[in-house]
Amino acid sequence: MVRFNLFGFPVTIEPFFWLLCAVIAFAGMPPSGGPEVLALGLTKAVVLFTAILLHELGHALAYKRFGSPHAAITIHGMGGLCTGSGHFTPKQKISISFAGPLVNIILAGVGFAAMKLLPAESSSLPYVAASTLFIFNAFVAALNLLPILPMDGGRIAEQLLGPRRIRTVAIIGIVTAVLAAAFSWLSFSFLILPFLFLYFAYQNFQILQRSGRGRF
Ligand SMILES: [Zn+2]
Repeated sequence: MVRFNLFGFPVTIEPFFWLLCAVIAFAGMPPSGGPEVLALGLTKAVVLFTAILLHELGHALAYKRFGSPHAAITIHGMGGLCTGSGHFTPKQKISISFAGPLVNIILAGVGFAAMKLLPAESSSLPYVAASTLFIFNAFVAALNLLPILPMDGGRIAEQLLGPRRIRTVAIIGIVTAVLAAAFSWLSFSFLILPFLFLYFAYQNFQILQRSGRGRF
């Protein structure tokens, strides 16, 4: 377990995160790779770590902005989590949820701009760093904005529709998660994603069951 403070927020990194980093960074790399493959993999790992950490820092800064300065960040085997406490208005909750993906949208923009400025050589480390910065951050932003609880997009949908529409939010979550599982099964070789989405679909189904037969 690695622990440190970032701008006053305690950060914990669980060991399984390094496994996720290694799988994503070195997937598809030639097994006989030398120093160049290692440099590319490490670059991808650093960009992934930065994308997830700064996403959570975005949530933490938003918590602080709305009067909750003691948010804590955990980076785990499935991504990250930022926990804060306090009473917030629906608008503030939406801002806190959106602050994480917003950081990734900005970083993706920086990566895209750098790609345009650098000569397009797939083997050059700066170009790979820029394209990875763009792709990873665009992916993290899009993934988190899907309207599936407990992800940021699901929390935003929950606030937009209001607490009386929790069944609608859960149904949207189930449909989106099943479609996303099918899409990621067909599109990516990274097999964790379909199972993660099916798990989210199950979680949203449980929310639907718990919410009883209220209005939606
Ligand atoms: Zn988030």
